[in-house]
Order: sequence, then structure tokens, then C-alpha cells
Amino acid sequence: MARYTEAVCRLCRREGAKLYLKGDRCYSDKCAFARRSFAPGQHGQGRKKVSEYGIQLREKQKARRIYGILERQFRSYFAKADKQKGITGENLLVMLERRMDNVVYRLGFTDSRTQARQLVRHGHILVNGKRLDIPSALVKVGDVISIAPASTGSEYIKAISEKITTKTTPAWLVLDAEKMAGKVDRFPSREEIDAPIAEHLIVELYSK
Ligand code: SF4
Repeated sequence: MARYTEAVCRLCRREGAKLYLKGDRCYSDKCAFARRSFAPGQHGQGRKKVSEYGIQLREKQKARRIYGILERQFRSYFAKADKQKGITGENLLVMLERRMDNVVYRLGFTDSRTQARQLVRHGHILVNGKRLDIPSALVKVGDVISIAPASTGSEYIKAISEKITTKTTPAWLVLDAEKMAGKVDRFPSREEIDAPIAEHLIVELYSK
């Protein structure tokens, strides 16, 4: 399956929730979901009855779209989460939060996970002082994520550093805004993950 390249605001309208895929625009009155909070397409306002399977499927699609993950990789995360001790749905969300692109976003280096993925892919991010350009890499406790020194002169990175202190860093990450670096203090608890996902529906879907 190819990566989705159409207008991403349609995804929010399809899932019936703001997925915050476009950075600053999501918080402005230009947000397409705020203006048209019904599914896209000719019958968007007419679709009402959804089966149990449909509800579970939509929840899984919403989670995939929030984190920008293709189906096969999402399934593989679920399989790993299922093998871990504890609650499968929570294990899954924690794993998604540990992705490098998500951590870069959570540290406030970017306004969206899409931008974070670009930043990582283009080699602007170091982990423990070494370049790591794989957005799906999972961080570990104690990892230090920073902007590569060679990149700090770019206008884009300068703009990020000016905005970074205006953002809230989750409690499981420790940000040093001056050094443009963040440390993974611990993994997040379920309560600390603000993604609007009912993970039990995803577990139900994959357990059929
Ligand atoms: Fe979704 Fe952001 Fe587009 Fe609003 S602006 S519809 S939250 S991607």
C-alpha cells in the first residue's frame, strides 16, 4: 500500500476527529474539520449507521493516521505489543509514542509528525550524538535526541528554536531548549498519551 498523498484534512473529516496533521493550521480557524466536521464525499453527511466492525476499523485507521503508519507496520507493532507483558492496547500506544518521529514532535522541534519525519529523514537529528535518519526507530530510556550541529545554522532550525519554549513538553521527556536537545526520562503512561484513541477497539479488531 502506498503512502497517502492526498489532502490530509480529508483524513480528519473521515475519522470524525482532529488528527493534528498540519501543524499550526490545526489550531487556526482554517482547520477544515472545524469548518466541515462531516465525512468527505457526496454522501458524507448522510452516513449514520456504523457496524461494530466499522467502529473498530475506524479507530485503527485513526491511530494509523495520527502516527502516519502504514498497515503492515501497524500490524507488526500490534504483534509486538501483544507479546509484551501488560495491557496490549497500552503497550501499542507506548510503542507508537517511542517512534523517533513522534519524539521529535513531542519535544517541540516540529509542529507535526509529518514535519518531524522529514527532519529525521534529512539527517538533522542525532541520537546520543550519532546521526539517526530512521523515523520509525524506537527510542530507549536515557537516549538523548538533539539537532545536528551542522543543521543549527539553517533558517528552518532557527525558526524552531524560537518557538520551542512556547510548547509543552510531556513529563516523560526532559527538554533542554537552549541546547535543542531532549532526553527520554522514562516511557509514557497511558494517561500521558493525549492521542484520542480508544485502543481497546483496535485490540478487539485484531483479535477477531
Ligand atoms: Fe485535521 Fe489539522 Fe486539517 Fe484541521 S487543519 S482538518 S486538524 S489536519
